[in-house]
Amino acid sequence: MAKIFCIANQKGGVGKTTTTVNLAAGLAKVGQRVLMVDLDPQGNATMGSGVDKRQMALSVYDVLLESASVAEAAVFSEKCGYHVLGANRELAGAEVELVEVERREKRLKTALAEVADAYDFVLIDCPPSLSMLTLNGLCAAHGVIVPMQCEYFALEGLTDLVNTIKQVHANLNKDLAIIGLLRVMFDPRITLQQQVSDQLKAHFGDKVFDTVIPRNVRLAEAPSYGLPGVVFDPAARGSQAFVAFAKEMVERIDKL
Ligand code: ADP
Ligand code: MG
Repeated sequence: MAKIFCIANQKGGVGKTTTTVNLAAGLAKVGQRVLMVDLDPQGNATMGSGVDKRQMALSVYDVLLESASVAEAAVFSEKCGYHVLGANRELAGAEVELVEVERREKRLKTALAEVADAYDFVLIDCPPSLSMLTLNGLCAAHGVIVPMQCEYFALEGLTDLVNTIKQVHANLNKDLAIIGLLRVMFDPRITLQQQVSDQLKAHFGDKVFDTVIPRNVRLAEAPSYGLPGVVFDPAARGSQAFVAFAKEMVERIDKL
């Protein structure tokens, strides 16, 4: 049975998409069967997995509106080693179209249930807002992975997300839990980052992943080649960190 995780944080530019595609590639590298679902109309995770968002015959939009199954709409990225259920601007319209339909927040959950045996991991890249799309992700997931930069306001933003997750847990999805906080774009030379990192550990204990993702320019360059850093430059420090994170996830899942 696939374990399903949302990569979420209401803030934009915190590293959600980078985490999603590199964790997907890292998991594939250690032998896991992975489906990456792009729930952001910007389609960055789609493009960053080597799938052209303008050329897709079917996308997650069709799945949410129940005009296609996941098996029909997902494509295998040869270079990356995982399946991609892509997104493009069409998905922005789903927000409005879903308002009218039944079980609107459970569409993705229902669709993913059909492919539960085909994958070990499903990773969902969420948009930076608490929309019907994000809600579909949170309803479908067993857990949330929260990438965060160790900055001054990081903890404040976290309170909002934690409250949202509590509400979804109480009303829509009893399985949902925060799996962990992932420190990303980390620069140990910056004292403040070290302090916030210590604060995080004091507050959240073992909910903070052991792996830390360093700030690494190769991770930022990779998307322009349509690849996750892990595939683009496996030797880069950031890529190695994501493979270590993939291994940490596999270990954590065994214990869940
Ligand atoms: P989000 O999906 O949360 O909006 P992204 O994953 O798109 O965030 O990351 C925002 C920007 O930061 C992108 O330009 C990305 O390439 C860059 N970035 C993300 N993680 C790292 C990292 N560890 N080191 C360097 N740059 C990074
Ligand atoms: Mg993103």
